[in-house]
Amino acid sequence: MIPSLTGVHFLITYGCSAECAHCFVWGSPDRTAAMTANQVDGFLDEIAALDQITDVCADGGEAFEEYDVFLHFLRRATVLGLSASALTNASWVESREQAAERIAELMSAGLGNLGISTDQWHQEHVPVERVDLLLEVCEEAGLGTARMESTLEGVMFRGRAAEKLAADMPTRPPESFTECPHESLGAPGRVHLDCHGFLHLCQGLTLGPGPMADAIARFDPQTHPIVRPLLEGGPHALGRLAAERGFELAPGYVDACHLCYRAREFLRPEFPDLLAPDEMYGP
Ligand code: SF4
Repeated sequence: MIPSLTGVHFLITYGCSAECAHCFVWGSPDRTAAMTANQVDGFLDEIAALDQITDVCADGGEAFEEYDVFLHFLRRATVLGLSASALTNASWVESREQAAERIAELMSAGLGNLGISTDQWHQEHVPVERVDLLLEVCEEAGLGTARMESTLEGVMFRGRAAEKLAADMPTRPPESFTECPHESLGAPGRVHLDCHGFLHLCQGLTLGPGPMADAIARFDPQTHPIVRPLLEGGPHALGRLAAERGFELAPGYVDACHLCYRAREFLRPEFPDLLAPDEMYGP
């Protein structure tokens, strides 16, 4: 059971208009795995039946790439009394009028807040002027926003960041990473849900297979084979677990996520339902 759980982020699609070097879900225009409207209905009904979730968020990938499903998600979530927010990279913004029209439609569907990603990596794919324009349009419409800007210091070196950005970074020995610095793995407040039905504690680390209610009811951090070592000794403990099975620990890793991700990649064949899906682990 997870009494602390009140939020679910819907990964509406793994596809994205951008392909940022620091993306930890490997978002890309080449990705096609996405939720259907029917799936959204089913997932939201499961969430309502849990009777503990208050907040949902449309996430990705880039949710606006599947605009009709995203709009449907907002409408259904609102009918069910859930508070709904979303994240975007603003790549879809073409003009002030078009952005204002979409924001009005989304707000009337129930959108309560919009996070807008922009940083040096996003700006290689999305002109910052689109972000600035969208922020202005949202302010005029009265929609709450958050401008989300990562710096190199804020990058978590998992997913594509582990492949593209880690090579030239300073490292520390594996023994220094004795806790997960970002997620409350023992008592999560929110999880991510993807089109395969996986509930992610961290991207690529799942509660396990089965319908949502079963996966949540079954979850025990003290017996989950990946969460337990992470809670007991952080990524270093997970690296040692992997090393017992043949994983070669490197002399150094950039951060805790870098070691965790490398160990999880190695352990995937043994835990295919807990370290999934493929989208979280490769191009
Ligand atoms: S990759 Fe590992 S260390 Fe990083 S946030 Fe996720 S679970 Fe925690």
